Amino acid sequence: MENTRIKGLTILKNGQLLTMNDGSVLKDADLWIENGKIVKISDRKETIPENADVIDVSGCVVMPGMIDSHVHYDESYMGDFFLASGVTSVRNMQGFAGHAKWRDEILAGTRRGPYIYSSGPIADGEDPTIPDNTNIIIRSKADAENIIAYTKKYGFLWLKTYPSMEPKLYKYLLRRAAEEGLPPCGHMTKILDYKSLIDAGYSCCEHTSSLPREKEDIVYAAQHGMWFCPTHVVCKTLPDYVWNGKQLTEVEHFEDLPECIRKRWEEENEITCENYRKLGIKPDFQTIIDRGRTFLEYSDRVMAGTDCPYAGVVPGFAMADELESLVDAYGMTRYAALAAATSRPAEYIGISDQKGKLLPGLDSDLIVLEENPLEAVGAVRKIRMVFQGENVWDKEVLDGFLKAAGRLTQEEIEFIPLKI
Ligand SMILES: [Zn+2]
Repeated sequence: MENTRIKGLTILKNGQLLTMNDGSVLKDADLWIENGKIVKISDRKETIPENADVIDVSGCVVMPGMIDSHVHYDESYMGDFFLASGVTSVRNMQGFAGHAKWRDEILAGTRRGPYIYSSGPIADGEDPTIPDNTNIIIRSKADAENIIAYTKKYGFLWLKTYPSMEPKLYKYLLRRAAEEGLPPCGHMTKILDYKSLIDAGYSCCEHTSSLPREKEDIVYAAQHGMWFCPTHVVCKTLPDYVWNGKQLTEVEHFEDLPECIRKRWEEENEITCENYRKLGIKPDFQTIIDRGRTFLEYSDRVMAGTDCPYAGVVPGFAMADELESLVDAYGMTRYAALAAATSRPAEYIGISDQKGKLLPGLDSDLIVLEENPLEAVGAVRKIRMVFQGENVWDKEVLDGFLKAAGRLTQEEIEFIPLKI
C-alpha cells in the first residue's frame, strides 16, 4: 500500500483548529499528534521538542475527519474516493461478511479505506420494496433469530429494517434486537404505527422520505431521542434526473470514477428515469423537506449521510453536497452541518471517546482545509491533507489514489457479495 505512516510526534503548526468541541475556532493553538492519537492542543508559544516533525499549516483550517453516516461500501475503489474527500469513517448500512473483513483489514492497516461501522443485512418482509432485492426476507421467528445471530456474529452494530414486514413478526424482531443490544434503524415502517416503532427503540430514520407523514409523529420521534439521517443528496437525484434533465456527466468527480461504474450508473439512471416518467411519479419534494425541517425544530440529532454509490452520488465527494443541502434546504447552521459530519455521528455510533472532535486522547483522524468551512461548508472540498490514525496523505498523493482507482477495470474491483 502506498501509505505514508507517521509514528513519532508530529505538530501541525500555525493553522486554525475547528475542534467541534464547542463553537469556537482556536487561532493560536497547535495540534500535537503521536502514534495515531491527538496528544495535545498547545499554546503556540510552547517550545517544540527537538524530535518533533513540524508541518506548517498556515492559512488552513484543521477539523476532524468526516464520517459519512449512510453508505453502501460494497466496491473496493470507493475506499480511495472516501479518503481523497476527507471521509475517514463511514457508517455502512447493509453489512455482510465481506464488510466485516474489510473493516478488520482497514483497522489492521492492510487495506486502505475509511473505518467501517456497519449495520447487518437488511431485514425485510415478503413484499420487497426494491426490485433487485438483496434484503433478507423474514417469514418466521426462526428467520428473525437468524438475522440477529448473523448481525451479532460479525460484530455489526445495528439491525437494519425495511417497511414491509408482517407487524407481529416485526414487533418480535424489534424486541429481540433490543434484548441483544442491536438498535434498529432504517426505513421507517408503513405497516407498524410510528409510536410503536419509536417505543421499540427505533434509533435512526434513514432518508427524509421515510419520516412519518404526520407532524405529531415526527415530533414524537424527535422528542423521544430518535436520530435522523436525511440523505438529501440521494433524495434529490430523483427530481434532478427524472424531471429536471440533469445529466450524470454534470456531477463533480463523475469522470474520475472507473469506466464500468460510470456505465452502470448511466444504465441504472436511465431505467429509473423511464420508470418514474412512465408512472408519472412526481413527488412533492418541498413537502418532504418540510418534514425534515419539522424534525429539526424539535431535535438536533442529525447525521450527514449520502447513500453512495447510488447513481449520481459519488463516494466521499457527495458529502460536500449533503452539507450544503443541510444548510441551504434544511436551514441548519454551518456549524451544525459540520457537527452532523463529525461529532454527531460519533455520538450516535458510540465512539465519541475516539472520533468526531479534535481533543487530546482522541484518534488523529483529521483533515486540513485551505478554506474555512464555517464561512462556506463547501470548503470541505478544499482538502490539503488527510490524516487517519497513523496515516497521512497530502493532496498530490490523494489525487494519485483517485487516478489509479479511476483506471480500475470491472475485474480489478472487488465487489462484496450481498448475501448471507
Ligand atoms: Zn442506503
